[in-house]
Amino acid sequence: MVEKKQVFIIDSSAIFSGKPLSFIKDMFVTTSKIYDEFKPGGRDYRNFQLLIDKGLQIIDPSKSSINSLLNKIRLFGEEKRLSDADISILALSYEYQKLGDLKPIIVTDDYSIQNVANYLEMSIQTINQNPITKRFKWERRCRGCRKKIIEDVDVCPICGSSIKHVIKKSSPVKKQI
Ligand SMILES: [Zn+2]
Repeated sequence: MVEKKQVFIIDSSAIFSGKPLSFIKDMFVTTSKIYDEFKPGGRDYRNFQLLIDKGLQIIDPSKSSINSLLNKIRLFGEEKRLSDADISILALSYEYQKLGDLKPIIVTDDYSIQNVANYLEMSIQTINQNPITKRFKWERRCRGCRKKIIEDVDVCPICGSSIKHVIKKSSPVKKQI
């Protein structure tokens, strides 16, 4: 069997690392939401431009890929823990996974991205951190009355206290090839 060509999907944490990402072969991409995190001037912006010079492409996931991904991450309670940029990276990986011609590998040190990726059987490459060894399902609870919060709100609808994420379930990661 011919091995699939890889596509490396670069998260901002990989660019902030300042590492040259020299392990990357084949194709590498990021999203415009990640691009927007880098303001002109400064070392991180220069690193980003260097990657673009080396062939980094900016590709955005479709709206339907984003929506499918959002539906899935609710199962793990990560929807309020991920930024729009994080979601764009995961949705782009999801899109490549569905298309099936290329093998997506997310390059990130972010724990929540790794967590979701592991549940969705996506491959990860970390830069400065060891890969996560446990994966978590989260739920939201009120800091005051301890009610479990399922509504899309920022404070408890009963007592008005703030909401925190607590681990509902933890298990060892499944190895992704
Ligand atoms: Zn409450």
